[in-house]
Amino acid sequence: MRLTRYFLPVLKETPAEAQIVSHRLMLRAGMIRQSSAGIYSWLPLGFKVLRRIEQIVHEEQQKAGHIPMLMPTIQSADLWRESGRYDAYGPEMLRIRDRHDRDMLFGPTNEELITDIFRTAVSSYRELPKTLYHVQWKFRDEIRPRFGVMRGREFLMKDGYSFDLDRDSAIHAFNRHVVSYLRTFERLGLKAVPMRADAGPIGGDYSYEFLVLAETGESEVFLDRSVADLALGDRTVDFDDTAALQGLVDQWTAPYARTDETHDAALFDAVPEDRKVTARGIEVGHIFYFGTKYSAPMNAVVTNAEGVQVPVEMGSYGIGVSRLVGALIEANHDDKGIIWPESVAPFGVGIVNLKQGDAAADAACEDLYAGLAKAGVETLYDDRDERAGAKFATMDLIGCPWRITVGPRGLAKGVVELTSRRTGESVELSPEDAISRVA
Ligand code: ATP
Ligand code: MG
Ligand code: MG
Ligand code: MG
Repeated sequence: MRLTRYFLPVLKETPAEAQIVSHRLMLRAGMIRQSSAGIYSWLPLGFKVLRRIEQIVHEEQQKAGHIPMLMPTIQSADLWRESGRYDAYGPEMLRIRDRHDRDMLFGPTNEELITDIFRTAVSSYRELPKTLYHVQWKFRDEIRPRFGVMRGREFLMKDGYSFDLDRDSAIHAFNRHVVSYLRTFERLGLKAVPMRADAGPIGGDYSYEFLVLAETGESEVFLDRSVADLALGDRTVDFDDTAALQGLVDQWTAPYARTDETHDAALFDAVPEDRKVTARGIEVGHIFYFGTKYSAPMNAVVTNAEGVQVPVEMGSYGIGVSRLVGALIEANHDDKGIIWPESVAPFGVGIVNLKQGDAAADAACEDLYAGLAKAGVETLYDDRDERAGAKFATMDLIGCPWRITVGPRGLAKGVVELTSRRTGESVELSPEDAISRVA
């Protein structure tokens, strides 16, 4: 992409309304624009990052055997009356009436809708297990939308729903989600710790939140440092191997890690002093096993091997896709701007032409731009007639992992400069070598 043809409305001033760094940087880098409280347009740069995160989420869900689909944003109130949540949900639900006076709502989550789809299509245990998911916009009329996309009213969520015949099989579905989420967050370059959450009226151990540690997080968290040191790395995971998955889940959930909502001071005291961490965290995912909470009242039953109709065992699993954009910036920035991990960077490389209009510099930039495209690297070429300082500032702000600087002085020696956004280190090399370094 040539910057002169792109839409990148960078702000020079720091917006006064933004309280945390990710919100400030998203506005300054022209990633989002607020249209009303907690509701944002995703401008081209922000949209690119959002899509890259979404893509990783899709890939990891499908590796775990979960099936993508798409449900609507607008739902009928009738289903929510069946589950009993229409009244219980309260003012966070945006209620809408259509022209025929029917009660509709903008979905804050989809348990009811998916349960309805399931019950009309599946009637035998032979068709189980199934896990379906989608990535779709949600609306929650948050009392205090803030921190930009971190607590929006409209936000993008991946939500999945598992259907199993019995508890053991449902726990396996739950465990697949734990491990696929760990892998997803690792690929995003984030350290997210599963923390025991309130399972509400269902009870048991079967709700975990995934929190990214960050000073601006809204939850207070207490953990044994050892859990933050765990990593899946490049080990292969067989999602059908029940025992292996349980082993991984046990490993990640054995060390103490809880939010203020479930914190138990006595248990935390048992953690060795040098491993005790009290910090703040951002909730980026939340998974629940809730058994028959929806299937029983909504009569989502299957016939088991004995020919008896039983309500299906369910769980639901969410990732805050749009919140992750903010969480990633909270975890990856400096005073000049964003530092994207390679896996989600909107562009892999930015080219800065130090002397736009100089025939040699322009030609070298064109060659680089074409060579990078051929090597499969998405590049943002700053071809504006601007001074070098302004071009560097823009590149630092938007945070591509690599910058290639091209100017007449270097070209006279046959070199360009390759700079890492994260380390700030620069090397001079030939344009061809620069391409192979970043490809
Ligand atoms: P929170 O505690 O932050 O209000 P929640 O517990 O209400 O979140 P869940 O119902 O668990 O949210 O939804 C699944 C995921 O959706 C959350 O883990 C979070 O990442 C994301 N999410 C929830 N509310 C918002 C919001 N207002 N803006 C952006 N993302 C959100
Ligand atoms: Mg909430
Ligand atoms: Mg929460
Ligand atoms: Mg939650």
